[in-house]
Amino acid sequence: MKIIHLHQLFLDSTGVCTDTRKLKKGQLYFALKGAHFNGNTFAKKALEEGASYAILDEDQGNLDNVILVEDVLHTLQELATYHRNFLNIPIIGLTGSNGKTTTKELINSVLSQKYKTTATAGNLNNHIGVPLTLLSMTKDTEIGIVEMGANHQGEIAALSEIARPNFGYITNFGKAHLEGFGGVEGVIKGKSELYKFISKTNGIAFVNKEDPLQIKQSSGLEIKTFGPSDADYTITFKGATPFVELEYDNLTIKTQLTGDYNALNISAAIAIGSYFSVDSQAIKNGIERYIPENNRSQIIEKENNTTIILDAYNANPTSMEAALSNLSKQSSTHKIAFLGDMFEVGETTKEEHQHILNYANSLGIDQVYAVGPTFGILEPSQKKYVVFETYTAFAKAYTKNIPSNTTILIKGSRGMAMERVLELIK
Ligand code: ATP
Ligand code: MG
Repeated sequence: MKIIHLHQLFLDSTGVCTDTRKLKKGQLYFALKGAHFNGNTFAKKALEEGASYAILDEDQGNLDNVILVEDVLHTLQELATYHRNFLNIPIIGLTGSNGKTTTKELINSVLSQKYKTTATAGNLNNHIGVPLTLLSMTKDTEIGIVEMGANHQGEIAALSEIARPNFGYITNFGKAHLEGFGGVEGVIKGKSELYKFISKTNGIAFVNKEDPLQIKQSSGLEIKTFGPSDADYTITFKGATPFVELEYDNLTIKTQLTGDYNALNISAAIAIGSYFSVDSQAIKNGIERYIPENNRSQIIEKENNTTIILDAYNANPTSMEAALSNLSKQSSTHKIAFLGDMFEVGETTKEEHQHILNYANSLGIDQVYAVGPTFGILEPSQKKYVVFETYTAFAKAYTKNIPSNTTILIKGSRGMAMERVLELIK
């Protein structure tokens, strides 16, 4: 079947579905294959439960409304690109080592003040999530915002080919997924694949004026800059104790996000909103109403003058440093960090973890509890710091010692589930 015909079936459908448990009547069912399942074997179930058509790459015998293709995933991606071109709207592509989802949500919050937007749901940012995001856009969508994640070279190039963004923003080039990218140079090259695509299509990249790497990597393409001065969009950072405050167009923006690193994510959203002519007051409203979720830089206030920064969603060397630096700048008398291992660091794992302990020490963090297979075998850089190889060992040994007027940071890779600390310290 030609893609134009499949697209017509898509327009006549109620959307696409890849999981029969979530199927809604009238959807196109795409039978994807995973490590532990083969979607083809659920074709009958999908059709019985109301799918309008099932797109398969393995024949399932006598079934009506089946479209047999060479490769279902590839067909899904092709359909997504066809749909993207059909809609012909601005698509903002986002990548970077840290802060993609936060920035995506902020941009969406700002642009939706003026436009009908469709953005990536949650963190659906890979070779399946990106096409699904594009296919969630309707004829009403005026601007699309697409998060693109990667842990190896070539991935952002491939996702860009699918989403064909004409606007792009790279949050940062950090030490994340070092293993798959082959070190920091690999990360820079891999993330810059977005710039490469944008330059091919004469699109526009948004760039932090203060980040020499962003300036360097985006040279040769049309850019719009933001920063405290000499930028297309002038945005001044006012502080982050604990919530980030910024000034833009003579308005003070009081956000519900902590961490000076979030000032960049917010600034990008302001610049993009402004580029798309959202007025300044609406930009301010869009930013101020956004509350982070899912353990991302969340602030929890407790009795006894304790503030908890719950940042347990994920961690890598760059975001860990940024979070510790932010903790050290808080105005409370005491600072405590509960840190879990950072995964996927690769060859330099031990050094990076040791560096984090030393860095916490250099910042004067009072207590550090570092937990995980790598932290657990290191030298604590201070007598008052302790390391544990497992969470169980830590939980068993932990005796609560939280003086009044303390700020607490909780952070680690997703697999460490450091949000468990909340139970221990409550
Ligand atoms: P993922 O790779 O899982 O998609 P992401 O890039 O979408 O992650 P977010 O989910 O927005 O990132 O944020 C995750 C964490 O990254 C935050 O809780 C915060 O600790 C850190 N972070 C966010 N923005 C930045 C930034 N600009 N620089 C450094 N660290 C950041
Ligand atoms: Mg994300």
